[in-house]
Amino acid sequence: MPQNITPLIAGNWKMNGLRAALIEVEKLAGRLAAGEPPRCTVAICPPATLINPMNRIAAPAGIVLGGQDCHPAASGAHTGDIAAQMLADAGAQMVIVGHSERRADHGETDDLVRQKAMAALASGLTPIICVGETRAEREAGKADAVVSRQLAGSVPDQAADEDVVIAYEPVWAIGTGLTPTSADIAEMHKNLRDQLISRFGKRGEGVRLLYGGSLKPANAKEILAIANVNGGLVGGASLLADDFAAIIWAL
Ligand code: PEP
Repeated sequence: MPQNITPLIAGNWKMNGLRAALIEVEKLAGRLAAGEPPRCTVAICPPATLINPMNRIAAPAGIVLGGQDCHPAASGAHTGDIAAQMLADAGAQMVIVGHSERRADHGETDDLVRQKAMAALASGLTPIICVGETRAEREAGKADAVVSRQLAGSVPDQAADEDVVIAYEPVWAIGTGLTPTSADIAEMHKNLRDQLISRFGKRGEGVRLLYGGSLKPANAKEILAIANVNGGLVGGASLLADDFAAIIWAL
């Protein structure tokens, strides 16, 4: 891993959080102001309704905000969807695309995820592109093939270096308390790195590869120390400032 990769710890609040939950971001901002500087970029991807009010607390604390999805188009007749430039306008600098919950709940394909990532890049947002196999795919010995296909199909050609983040999130580890072994995470992240380098050359070396799936204070130190793991995408444990802080300072 190049020494100049700044790790990223990003919280995915999913469909959780009313304005009252901003207290947790205030707590985290307080910890960031008082504690040792973190060795990573800290990001939170709240529901879109909270991006603007959260930014008033997050921006002065150096916390980056992100959306959880965007539409591939810049605007138009797409009721209920949100465009990347709207997220940017609200204060986001990143956006998660291709989360397994969207792939499963909304039938999102690799091609659609790639178009969303391109829309994010065109609006100046860093896409966090999620890939990961289901339990059945892992048990059938297909994890590498599935994740390689998702990576090839979901990452746009113009993506590289710090402009894009890949999150490896085994579907069976999300919200279950289960995690792969460190050896399995190391193997998958090495495969991802090798594929990025074979596709993008040197530009593939700086892409941040996050691990996601039941990352929590108790396992963060071990997982975040694995080679080619450049941070984490954190669901449940990002909702409470104390848990999220413990993961941030595990690096
Ligand atoms: C996620 O959904 O991105 C995630 C990693 O969830 P959890 O940490 O709750 O498993």
